[in-house]
Amino acid sequence: MTNVLKENGGTGTPLLVLPTGEQQILVACRIRPMTEDEILQGGTIIAHKVAEDNMVVLLDPDEDHDDILRANRSRERKYMFDVVSDARAGQQDVYASTAKILLGSVLEGYNATVFAYGATGAGKTYTMLGTENNPGIMYRTLHDLFVEIKKFEGQREYQVSMSYLEIYNELIRDLLAPSSSFLELREDAKGTIQVAGLSELITKTPEEVMEMLHKGNRARTQEPTKANKTSSRSHAVLQVNIKQRDVTRSHTEQVRFAKLYMIDLAGSERAAQTQNTGRRMMEGAHINRSLLALGNCINALSEKGNTKYVNYRDSKLTRILKDSLGGNSRTVMIAHISPASVHFEESRNTLNYADRAKYIKTKIRRNV
Ligand code: ADP
Ligand code: MG
Repeated sequence: MTNVLKENGGTGTPLLVLPTGEQQILVACRIRPMTEDEILQGGTIIAHKVAEDNMVVLLDPDEDHDDILRANRSRERKYMFDVVSDARAGQQDVYASTAKILLGSVLEGYNATVFAYGATGAGKTYTMLGTENNPGIMYRTLHDLFVEIKKFEGQREYQVSMSYLEIYNELIRDLLAPSSSFLELREDAKGTIQVAGLSELITKTPEEVMEMLHKGNRARTQEPTKANKTSSRSHAVLQVNIKQRDVTRSHTEQVRFAKLYMIDLAGSERAAQTQNTGRRMMEGAHINRSLLALGNCINALSEKGNTKYVNYRDSKLTRILKDSLGGNSRTVMIAHISPASVHFEESRNTLNYADRAKYIKTKIRRNV
């Protein structure tokens, strides 16, 4: 994917359509800046980007120097990804080297998925949603999608619609029409999973989208836990549907359809690290269930030859993403880590998880 990144990295460059055939997942890593809290706690920086190689070097803060010499071990763990961003990278840089690469394919009728993975506080929501003044990937992708669509005015007719849902405790809530009731998954005759009753809003401008996203995010289930004040224990799933019709031809078969998912996953830290009991522990178990199922799917898909059975049925998240992981999709995974020594364990777990994801290979077809 390195060439694709180079050619497509800047703003205003033409969109590139990834080649058909073997899917390549693009795996990125974002190391956020130290927060004031981490600096106040006296944390040191242990995660570094090595510029040329798109490599992350993680130092084990606990390993004693003598131990290392004796065991002939290294304090350093090295991880290679398609792209690595550190504190110097802005929102546009991160977008341009990840989600933007999918846009050309989406307009050609391929499904695509962007995941933000990482522990609570590692920067997932900042990357996906961002702030009103410095929006993240969700807004930037929609913005560029509308720019591209405008270029085809008079030739193609587009309809862009979106849904925004939350999976919390394996229960699905509509973030665009919050209510106390939960939504169920249904499988249609073709085996496609639908979220029954989920609202789908037609959007025409990125500003409209932004407003909906922020409104939706305020409806997310966010409750304080001991691990983090505004711990996010839910998965937020933005689904954008792009329907296009070639108006220069009259056939109704000329309709092309693509689905783009942008997902802010729940914190990947283990339930055991959250010093809670009762209900919160149960939530932790459920989050692990969805993330575990996602991890299992990733493992199965990354097996050599891809012959292993992929079990999507284990969680709501993987059922929804069935089409978008296995079949007909391009995937970008952005693993998020804090650079601080206090988060070593979490960072190592996240980097290991992302490292496995690099090997996903599936055959992709274009939607017809
Ligand atoms: P998560 O969604 O993974 O729990 P957040 O996105 O909420 O984490 O980030 C935690 C805190 O760090 C927030 O206050 C956020 O504004 C800040 N932050 C995260 N990433 C960055 C970044 N790249 N640059 C500046 N601040 C960031
Ligand atoms: Mg978050």
